[in-house]
Parts: sequence; structure tokens; C-alpha cells
Amino acid sequence: MQNILDLTLDELKAKLVDLGESSFRAKQILDWVYKGVFDFSNMNNIPIKTRETLKSNFYIGVPSLIHEYQSKDGTIKILLQFGDGNIIESVIMKYKHGYSICVSTQVGCRMGCKFCASTLEGIVRNLTAGEILSQILVAQKLIQNRISNVVLMGSGEPLDNYDHVLKFLELVNAEYGLNISHRHITLSTCGIVPKILDLANRKLQLTLAISLHAYNDEKRKAIMPVANKYSINELLEACKYYVSVTGRRITFEYALVNGVNDSEEDAVALAKLLRGMLCHINLIPVNEIKENDFKKSPEERISKFMNIIKKSGIEVTVRREMGSDINAACGQLRRSYIKTQN
Ligand code: SAH
Repeated sequence: MQNILDLTLDELKAKLVDLGESSFRAKQILDWVYKGVFDFSNMNNIPIKTRETLKSNFYIGVPSLIHEYQSKDGTIKILLQFGDGNIIESVIMKYKHGYSICVSTQVGCRMGCKFCASTLEGIVRNLTAGEILSQILVAQKLIQNRISNVVLMGSGEPLDNYDHVLKFLELVNAEYGLNISHRHITLSTCGIVPKILDLANRKLQLTLAISLHAYNDEKRKAIMPVANKYSINELLEACKYYVSVTGRRITFEYALVNGVNDSEEDAVALAKLLRGMLCHINLIPVNEIKENDFKKSPEERISKFMNIIKKSGIEVTVRREMGSDINAACGQLRRSYIKTQN
């Protein structure tokens, strides 16, 4: 059985022809699926015999919505379960310009960042392109509205699931599908250098976000194991290459952890490190999780840090904390849900 959501229009056409069906059916079928009809039986412009053929060869791999948590600020966190029982989470956020979704790319993660809840139990498996896409389909159906922005910042490391993520980027952008422009997509990575270089060469118009979190290797290694593999120097060279090839501004994410990476010296050194690059720094007050002792920086430390960066001429923002009343951050919800089921 094949998940129809993993297929491009051309791939579906070819498969239908192999099954003795007309290729023009492919577009009709995908129109239904992308409209939120997840049952072949309800596709009433498809002959019944063809529907039977579809049922015995394909499935529409949308996860079931097992929980939905509404935050006071309008953020909705959803827990989704795939056919094999695995659970992931996605977050829907409402902005002035429309809806945005944060999708997961893996069940769990193997990157081991010390402050992150998604990685505590390692990786279970990669999500396929269709499974990443399906999070948007389920979310659109739930909110009865179009989602216009996507961030690959849920559980998982997108560049550790590179082929599926590339295919997802093709599907999400397709005119017959969700038609979401790459300019409205942000891919966040802990910094897998060879993949950043490869991505650059594909010249997609994505926003690349780099989880930096420290200004030197020693500090970075203490919180991010990936720093043992790639130095900040190599990482920044790859980022510069990305900027030069795509013309896109890079976002650097920096989670502020009290007493770990939030001093004035850290801010000065960070500004020095990134000066002259086409970039933007997004400061994230760390989300506290009970499995570690990392504490959020106090307000005044955050503003001091921000002002130092600002004065250096680099654009900087502090991420609005959305949905903190519903554990909306970074793999916390899936964990607490799985715990209550055991
Ligand atoms: N693996 C990718 C994308 C998923 S994590 C990456 O590392 O970028 C998305 C962002 O949330 C990353 O910047 C990550 O470092 C950050 N993050 C993870 N846990 C966090 C926490 N507890 N508080 C604040 N940010 C966190």
C-alpha cells in the first residue's frame, strides 16, 4: 500500500496508468485530498470501480487528531497519531497576516540538544514527505482556513531527514497542492553543514534558521552535541555560502538560558561573530522543561542582551512566547501525553 500523500502529481499519474486507469484522474483525486477529503469513497467524480482500485492500492496517510489544546492567545497545539501508533505534535499560530504552522519532521530526534524535550528519548523514525504535509492538511481542516506559512521547527532535525524534507518542500509548493511559496517557509536546523551547502545549491527561496545558541565552540559543545562535529566557523562559512547563492537572509536562533549564554559578554561576542552577515537574530527565552535545570533568563537580562545586539547594528527580535499555557513548546506535549497513557 502506498501513501498517496507521498506522491507528486506526475508520480500518481504514472501509477494510475500502471493500474490501467486514466492519468487525468490523478489531478481529480489530489484535488479532493488537498481539499480535505480523506476517503476515496467520497470522491464522487471518480467512477466506483476506480475508487475500488484506489482503495486496494493506496491510502490517504493523514494522522488522526487525538488531542487539541487551545491557548488563550489563540495558539492551537495538536497531537496527531499515525497508523503505526506514533504520535507527533504540531502547533498552529494565528498572526495578523494569516495562519502559520510549526510541523514536526521526525518522531523524536537524535541530535541531543541539552535543553530540548524532543530529543530526550532519541529518534523513533523519520516522517515521510506526505506525513509532514499531512500535518498541514489536518490543521487546515480543523481551523477551516488556509495556512499560509510553515516553519519546520517541531520535533526532529529536518536536515537529518533530508530526502523526505526535500520532497515535502516540492509537494507543499506544488500548484496542484497547497501552493505555499517557499518564501513563506522556514527550515530550522541545528547546523548540519554538508546539508546546508547542498540546500544552498538547490537555490530554493526558503528562510534558513540556524540554531546557534552560543558564540563559541566550547560553549556550544556544552549544550549541542552537533557542535562536536561541525565548528561554528564551518557553520558560518556554510551560512555565508547560503546567503551568497540564494540572496536570502539567515535567521539565527539563540535560546537564552540564565547563566549559561545570556551575559553581556555573550551578547558582545555574538554580535562580533555575526557582524557583516545578512542575518537576523531571534532570541528565544528558553522554555523550561522539568528534565533539566535550564532556567529562563530574567526579563532585564533579556533586554540588556537584546540592546547590545541592536546597538551593534544587527537586527534582533525576541520570540513572542505563544501557547506557553498549553506546553506549546518543543516536544513537551507529546511527552506528557505519552506518559499519561503508560
Ligand atoms: N532540529 C531543528 C528544528 C527543531 S527545534 C533545530 O535544531 O533547529 C526548533 C528550535 O527550538 C531550535 O532553535 C531549538 O534549538 C529550539 N528549542 C528546543 N528546545 C527548546 C527549549 N526548551 N526552549 C527554547 N528553544 C528550544
